[in-house]
Amino acid sequence: MSVMSLPPPPAIPPERRIYANRTLNLRSIRAIGYDMDYTLLHYRVEEWEQGAFEQARSSLAERGWPVEDLSFDPSTVIRGLTLDLELGNLVKPTRFGYVIKATHGTQALDYDRLRKAYHGNVVDLSESRFVFLNTLFSLSEASLYAQLVDLLDEGRLPEMRSYADVYRTVRSTIDEAHMEGALKDRITADPDRFVVPDADTAAALLDQQRAGKRLLLITNSGWDYTRRMMPYALDPHLPDGLTWRDLFEVVIVSAFKPGFFEGNRPFFEVVDEEQGLLSPHAGPTVPTKVYFGGNAAELEETLGISGDQILYVGDHLFADVHVSKALLRWRTALILRELESEVRDQNEFVPSEQRLQSLMSHKELMERQLALLHLDRQHAKTARKGRRDLDASIEDLRRELSRLDEEIGPLARAAGELRNEAWGPLMRSGNDKSLFARQVERYADVYTSRASNFLFETPYAFLRAARGSLPHDPS
Ligand code: IMP
Ligand code: MG
Repeated sequence: MSVMSLPPPPAIPPERRIYANRTLNLRSIRAIGYDMDYTLLHYRVEEWEQGAFEQARSSLAERGWPVEDLSFDPSTVIRGLTLDLELGNLVKPTRFGYVIKATHGTQALDYDRLRKAYHGNVVDLSESRFVFLNTLFSLSEASLYAQLVDLLDEGRLPEMRSYADVYRTVRSTIDEAHMEGALKDRITADPDRFVVPDADTAAALLDQQRAGKRLLLITNSGWDYTRRMMPYALDPHLPDGLTWRDLFEVVIVSAFKPGFFEGNRPFFEVVDEEQGLLSPHAGPTVPTKVYFGGNAAELEETLGISGDQILYVGDHLFADVHVSKALLRWRTALILRELESEVRDQNEFVPSEQRLQSLMSHKELMERQLALLHLDRQHAKTARKGRRDLDASIEDLRRELSRLDEEIGPLARAAGELRNEAWGPLMRSGNDKSLFARQVERYADVYTSRASNFLFETPYAFLRAARGSLPHDPS
């Protein structure tokens, strides 16, 4: 069959495509490692985070904190924001760390307060003052922190001396909510309520395995939870006789990422899968067994492959993607479910965006004209010539510019409220890329909304990076 007679490949909707920061040839990938939570399993964020929030809130209430009126509101926080522990703020920085939107506690900061707080201050994530919201699991934590900052300001948390103190307490109570069995028990008892099903995930993994990729599961979840959730997510969608265990050559639970990528923690084998009993393990991993802990260097050695032959797919910007890329040079794919609403909203906004761009071009032209008139007036002043005509033209131009601003204002505001009214898009901060987008481009070779999007691309895809744009590119 000639190429010309082949039907064109089916179009992939923009919100389900895989976007490449650096070209990734899937043919050269020999093993694909998967994270579980929010990667192979997508949760209903409101339900999960509500559960974590409620559990943390009731443990604070038991300590006598006045938290009975607090509630989780998913519209007030997004992944990619940064907590400022010094000032009690939530901020959205640009890729250079400039803060262009912020709240103090739950209250939005107006322009003057924002300027005062961050004038000469950029967000540098290497400072312990800043905490980056890396995953959808961070939303309950951010919402609780903001509301407790309000309580501290009202003088209702006498035990706490600073916003950083408040954060430490939030961190430990949310941590407990994840570690205690209660929340996970609720999920395993009623997974339909908490999990968004995706039948294509199993098909995508099966295609990859049959194309010769060695599949690895590397999750921070414990065995007891993993053994309940993986069959729920995959088994009903696999051909008869196959289970999720047949897909993965290596299963690693309680991996302690990012520690898994950094250190030399020992491997244990789960010797009794019913009871979850562990025994120390040395030597190569065995495909039918389950492992606990361990480290990436030893895993590479047992598999006999390393670095850019391995693709790791995960949702945690730091623990899954940043560290595996920075330390091991693994190829990385970030799962970003929010991309679906972000891309949809942006596409709907295209006509308004075009109008905004055309108004901005017009504005730039007029600003340049105004600058030239100012200079003419300055020259005229030095030469002691008449300036009346120039004054009138400057006044006219100023009036025209403020009329233009009235038209630009609502469009620019709407662009800043896409996807989330309070914080706007995940990947943009004002006219610039967001700090979140900067980290995505630095550490994720590719990013996409779901692991199942690999199904449409096939295991043979050549995912080519777009040509990066520069300010001086011809328009
Ligand atoms: P993964 O995404 O598959 O690596 O697994 C994430 C696991 O980490 C889930 O079991 C979460 O409940 C757990 N987790 C997420 N955030 C926290 C936390 O703050 N403390 C402890 N465990 C967490
Ligand atoms: Mg995860």
